Amino acid sequence: MKRRFQPELGRGGRPLRIAYGRIFHEANAHSPISVTERDFRGMHYMVGEELRKATTLRGSELVGYMPHAELTGFVQAANVAGGVESVPLSSALTVPGGPISKECFEWLLNDLLDRLKAAGPLDGVYLALHGSSEVQGLAEAPEAVILRKVRELLGPDAGLAVSYDLHANFASELLDPVDVMIAYRTNPHWDLAPTGFRAGNRLIRTLRGQIKPVHAWRKLPMVLGGGITIDFMAPMRKVFRWMRKLERDPRVLSASLFMVHPYTSADNLGWAVHVCTDDDPQLAARLADQLADRAWDQRKAEIPPLRGAAEVLDEVKSGVRRRLGPVTLVDVDDIVGAGAPGGNTHIVRELTRDDRGLKVMLPLHDPELVDELWDAPLDSERTVTLRGTPGYNMPSVTLPVVVKAKLESDFGRLIRLDSGSFHVAIGERPPLPISPRFWRELGLNPRKADALVQKNFFHYRMFYATTSWAHLPVQTDGATSLHRVRNREYQVPTYPGHDPVDWRDDDAKLRSLKGVRTLQAVRADGALPASAT
Ligand SMILES: [Zn+2]
Repeated sequence: MKRRFQPELGRGGRPLRIAYGRIFHEANAHSPISVTERDFRGMHYMVGEELRKATTLRGSELVGYMPHAELTGFVQAANVAGGVESVPLSSALTVPGGPISKECFEWLLNDLLDRLKAAGPLDGVYLALHGSSEVQGLAEAPEAVILRKVRELLGPDAGLAVSYDLHANFASELLDPVDVMIAYRTNPHWDLAPTGFRAGNRLIRTLRGQIKPVHAWRKLPMVLGGGITIDFMAPMRKVFRWMRKLERDPRVLSASLFMVHPYTSADNLGWAVHVCTDDDPQLAARLADQLADRAWDQRKAEIPPLRGAAEVLDEVKSGVRRRLGPVTLVDVDDIVGAGAPGGNTHIVRELTRDDRGLKVMLPLHDPELVDELWDAPLDSERTVTLRGTPGYNMPSVTLPVVVKAKLESDFGRLIRLDSGSFHVAIGERPPLPISPRFWRELGLNPRKADALVQKNFFHYRMFYATTSWAHLPVQTDGATSLHRVRNREYQVPTYPGHDPVDWRDDDAKLRSLKGVRTLQAVRADGALPASAT
């Protein structure tokens, strides 16, 4: 193996010992479903030897999703550097959802800390965290608690590296306890392993005295969502390209742009930039200012026009787009991939008013109706009421249906209901028809649809590349509604609800704010109060 650095030993002539672990979750404060230990155990939870094996190049770190993620990247950095013993702790990840329950967070945190205590003497720790998680009843970012407790255990002399999703809500408490901070540089995120590699590489060089990371960061009063934040598309492409160029300068250890996940209840919600240099604070400050300017300049980029269900279904009916195959209706206000529960009934309500003769396939989270209908015979006819996710305050929709199919899937129990010209797949868990297989398993051919309702911003396009070429956003109301972002309370006037002239005016105040959750404190279940929506 080619070594980029001279293998040097750690303190006292022995190899460096660096432990690694993960607690990863993106929270949507508008979702009424809290995340529990079962969700992590059902998705990704690994410890000790199992984690060690999973984070080798032959292993599979995030099974079924991404074989090599941050921790494999970190282990590779340790192998490449040589003279480093990497020590697996615990790794837990689940899909975005509502805030984590208090009990679940205690389990995650204590599990990690207990393993850290049992790991023996360590020179450093690397943690893969998200940066936009939330815990019921906890008034600060859970990542801040994790880092503080880990730093307490490690003491001031050990090295601590962290990586975040670029949707983190960056804040001083997410940076101050660490020596090295690295964020994803792609959106959608495919660079998990390179992120872990970069974090490990910089941590090892720091521990060996080869570099001295110094940090500068800025916080911008802007919160944008969805379509304009793809790293390889306009308008953000040029900003990401500039960041990569910055890192070619050997004095620059990393440049990061945080395009925050906008659906948490953090008081200090906003975009942020971060630049880390090798012992050159002036350069870090100057480049952070420049990066902030570049990000700020993109804020007024045009977003696709948002129209309601009736208008969009009329357009599908007009047939202009249908010629190319089924039209995907992206339910932008109920994006399961951004933590929404998927129980939005607005589109199906419009179809019951007038189905326009359109063959529409639509997923819906409705666990109570799944319970009610699970024993119903196939092909039986009945009148049902769709209510969507319990506690989500969606309009109830009563309609005649035929029970056409039932199955147990990755999304729990699913039932296909046919009504008029459309098909509703009700599920006991948030449904994510990211692959056309979802519909095929229910006996439907998605190619034959006029419209397919999707609960995902972007990833689904990879799987539907030969199925659907037209994508229309539909505005309804739900946990990922932009109006909820625009109309929520902020500590400083924030774009696009407000139109601040210069990010510099509020940067110092935004950076001084702790990421407390005063809004969340109003409702113990984590959902934002109705006044904020
Ligand atoms: Zn993300």
